Amino acid sequence: MSLALARKYRPLSFDELIGQEAVSLTLSLALENDRLSHAYLFSGLRGSGKTSTARIFAKALLCEHGTTSHPCGVCSHCKMAVDGRHMDIIEMDAASNRKIDDIRELIEHTKYKPSSGRFKIFIIDEVHMLTKEAFNALLKTLEEPPAFVKFILATTDPLKLPATILSRTQHFRFRKISQPILTKHLEHILNLEGVTYEKSAIDIIARSGAGSVRDALTLLDQAIVYSTNFIDLSTVTNMLGIIEPSLLEGLLNKIMLKDEAGILEFISMASEFESEMVIDELMLYLKDILLSGSTKITPMIIERFFRVLADAKQLLNIGSDGEFVLSLTLFKMMEALQIQDIDGMIRTLEKELNSVKITPSEPIKEESSVPLSPPIVDDNRIVEPEVSPDLPIPEPIKPIDPHAKQFESLIAKLYDRNYELGEGFKNSITYSSFEDNLLSWESTASGENKTLLKNNWGLIRMFVQEIFGFETKIKNIPKELPSVDVEPELITSQAEEPIFMVAEEDELPMTSSCIAPEDGGVEAAKEKDERTILDEPMVAKALELFSPKKVRVKRKS
Ligand SMILES: [Zn+2]
Repeated sequence: MSLALARKYRPLSFDELIGQEAVSLTLSLALENDRLSHAYLFSGLRGSGKTSTARIFAKALLCEHGTTSHPCGVCSHCKMAVDGRHMDIIEMDAASNRKIDDIRELIEHTKYKPSSGRFKIFIIDEVHMLTKEAFNALLKTLEEPPAFVKFILATTDPLKLPATILSRTQHFRFRKISQPILTKHLEHILNLEGVTYEKSAIDIIARSGAGSVRDALTLLDQAIVYSTNFIDLSTVTNMLGIIEPSLLEGLLNKIMLKDEAGILEFISMASEFESEMVIDELMLYLKDILLSGSTKITPMIIERFFRVLADAKQLLNIGSDGEFVLSLTLFKMMEALQIQDIDGMIRTLEKELNSVKITPSEPIKEESSVPLSPPIVDDNRIVEPEVSPDLPIPEPIKPIDPHAKQFESLIAKLYDRNYELGEGFKNSITYSSFEDNLLSWESTASGENKTLLKNNWGLIRMFVQEIFGFETKIKNIPKELPSVDVEPELITSQAEEPIFMVAEEDELPMTSSCIAPEDGGVEAAKEKDERTILDEPMVAKALELFSPKKVRVKRKS
């Protein structure tokens, strides 16, 4: 095998060109229909077929049988072109001939007619390497060359070309050769060469070729020499110094199972490999898992793993100790799994908090109706993923009034003090709102229940003030009371009035630990003078109505 595979299997026609169907087709049509441009630009990854295409195209232009997409390959022009000794095909490598003098010499050449062919073809490889002066010198000729001159410029970096060059050429972009196509190509060549192989080994070579036919073939050359006629997986992984996929699979299993001992074992085994390679291989392996549609690892976890691995690459780039970075990375990957647990905990906690709702501004989320993906974790930040717009957005549920909760404690407190009172209160009083120190409720109290509540009015108010604040006033809104014809609004103006009598003005509370003030809650705090207390209009009226027995209690001195 003296001749390198890349040269031996260089494509000789557009049909043999692999992975560049669009380019082949367009150039073939141009040749067939005689719609030729005077300058072409081929750009793309190294080894993607630019130079081969340029040579096939040149041959097609010069074949004795006329410009054709299928040059005969046997005429003298075709033969000379294939052997690279055609006088009218001038190849120049701009990487080593980048100066203005080189271009001036080339321009001189364009002035002379072709020696034997139809055209004089200039192939300039790596054209982006030319100096600015060289480009400028080339411009005029490129724009208006003699009719017999054709330019084919090739570059791996079209962005480095001046716009003036780009606008004067027909631009063809060469694609990266996909891994399956490369694999197929390699297998085809191995069959022709009579070399046996393991499919997975060829997959790895194709992958390592990274879209370049030339690179993949160079590796294949190497593998053939290395493997004594049978290319197997371990030969290739050894040759490339990469880790076997089965070991990576084992490692990922250990990570998923949080098997620390297993991971440590891997780290000690992997010490013979370059850490960067292990990390690269892990990335590729995860990519394979993602693309294979396997459910073994969710995309969410793959994304987290990928971030951890990307961090590792950065650490390696700043020259950190490889083994240390690898160990750190693998344990971080294991931790990335735990973050999911934390997410779960946070959501459970949020649910619990929502049930005692403290922030009315935020609507409670219905977990079941919106399948939210777990938050993306970036280092220490937790980023909630956006709900995609096609998901149904839940109707925001009316936030629970936190004071309703306080009202419940009021009921509980009343029950606690007096079961009967609690029952009576609960059955007839419904919370409606609490705003600006005004507690509003609706009352359906009547009969005995009403009396009970009236009798315990002081206690109720005390508890209300304990729970809602000392300044709290109460607004009672009677409901379903046939005798009520007083507007609730009227009642509110006297909010400090005891509630159970406001609807029927001739009733008064019987027991009250303190006296209702004339106005304002502050007054309520003040003790009335004991000598004038009986002169209070309401007390007086009460005395008149109930004719109670008066008992004088003296202060202890
Ligand atoms: Zn020919």
